[in-house]
Amino acid sequence: MIVSRTADLIVRASGMHRMTDEELGASSAQARRAPIAEAHEPSPEADSLRAAVAVSEGEIIGLGDWTDVEALAGPDTEVVALQGTIVPAFTDAHAHPIMSLSLARGAALKECATLDEVAEALRAEAAERGADEWVLGWGLDPNVFVDGAITNDVLHEALGPDRLAYVTLFDAHSAIASDAALAIAGITGPRAYPGHSFVVADDAGKPTGHLLEMGAMNEVQAHIPEQALEERVAGLRELLSAMAAKGIAEIHVMDMNDPETVALLTAAEEEAPLPVKLRISPWCTPTMDAADCAELVEKQRLHGRRWRVGGVKFFIDGTVEGGTAWLETPDSRGEGTTSAWEGIDAYAARVSQLNSAGVPTATHAIGERGIREVAETLAALPDTGVQHRIEHIESVGRDVIDLLGRAGIAASMQPTHCTHYTRADGSDDWSQRLGEDRARRAWCTRDVLDAGAILALGSDYPVAPFDALKIMADAQLRRPVDDAAAAPILPEQGLTAAEALAGYTRGPWAAIGERGGFLAVGEPAAFTVLDVDPLTVAPEVLGDATVLLTVSDGLVTHSA
Ligand SMILES: [Zn+2]
Repeated sequence: MIVSRTADLIVRASGMHRMTDEELGASSAQARRAPIAEAHEPSPEADSLRAAVAVSEGEIIGLGDWTDVEALAGPDTEVVALQGTIVPAFTDAHAHPIMSLSLARGAALKECATLDEVAEALRAEAAERGADEWVLGWGLDPNVFVDGAITNDVLHEALGPDRLAYVTLFDAHSAIASDAALAIAGITGPRAYPGHSFVVADDAGKPTGHLLEMGAMNEVQAHIPEQALEERVAGLRELLSAMAAKGIAEIHVMDMNDPETVALLTAAEEEAPLPVKLRISPWCTPTMDAADCAELVEKQRLHGRRWRVGGVKFFIDGTVEGGTAWLETPDSRGEGTTSAWEGIDAYAARVSQLNSAGVPTATHAIGERGIREVAETLAALPDTGVQHRIEHIESVGRDVIDLLGRAGIAASMQPTHCTHYTRADGSDDWSQRLGEDRARRAWCTRDVLDAGAILALGSDYPVAPFDALKIMADAQLRRPVDDAAAAPILPEQGLTAAEALAGYTRGPWAAIGERGGFLAVGEPAAFTVLDVDPLTVAPEVLGDATVLLTVSDGLVTHSA
């Protein structure tokens, strides 16, 4: 090794996984057969701190045994010694940290399993607010509505009909609003909006309080007072720090809807570097024409120090639970037969425009028809070297997954959507809606890798928690890591430890056609140190592991 620079930081640890090709194996099938080569055996002895990474000006300048790296230390080099394993830092391939600032306000309802628990949580939230203030909630699990009819009755029961109240469901694709909230938005009957969005009404034409998809949700949201910018900056910094504490160094942010996004990020960066780097994909919606789409291309130039606009996000459909996923045949309630777009040609025109302009796209596609139509559209694009990806892929046949592999389309999937919101016995809302055959094709991560497709993992926060270690554990176990009694859901679709780790390291980078997610000299210094070896411990141990250190482009963003 040629020693040309002095390190400003050296991290010594007991083990290291670089996630190189050799370590992962040439294919996932090989990776499964061959044990992952280990750079260093972890050992509790202090003198076993043999693995080391040296960093200078945000770049890795030395890597390997301590004996290789030692010479890079100078008098001012900070040397951090940790009993743990160094791995590439995590990228959450799909999350909404900025949207969560306005979405995840008020009562957190994720853990509520019954309507009574929801009412209790809302009453507790209301007690903290003035009588004329809005009562907000988020993360509501549709499984609490026993008969499946989603209405605002629970809001009225908890708070009375005159209270301004608004609660988003867990998937952030629908909400319930109290009658008072509907009145303030001037909603008195059923309404439809572009993108398959509705104010739902009963047979008599009276709104039930259920608002489906963004158009309808925005009608009421527009009346909820926003937080001050300073408050939002503090909220964002706090959230990103909590994410860095889970080993996350980068997030693919799947929306740029907040009109204040640039102001918010600029203000946040004036205080200090962002704890996590953000790559932000604005939406291309069905109402956008070629000129609007050209503006999205222009937007790709926007960036700050640790954030940039990158890629464009589409929705071909909605969600299974909302009855808005685009299915080949209707769900058990006769719903799910339409796309968010007028037709696939309109979508194809916009995607093709971006492909020609060199802009990578990400398309939300959940129902098997939507996934197929999107995969066929992307596969037919002329090869401009642009990497495209599909988000969610909740249930689809093996033939379509094989097409992803053949066409080089990346799959961006969220294992905890499966493990947190569906059940092995099929008694959950998602499985009931889709029926047995489609439920048996739930989140087929194993098939994606076997088809040779790129797999990127993520949280979809605030739809599900952002804890990367627990998500990697769930991806292996196919059940919530914290619920040992839960039966695994299609365990044959589980990932190996190495595949789960690759899904949070190399996968997200590959999914946007960029280099990253491994450790090598000359690469950006983005790594994390875990108190366990993620490739050898049981998933349950990984789920409870501690992140000792996170370094993002040379910046220490978390230190336990
Ligand atoms: Zn999302």
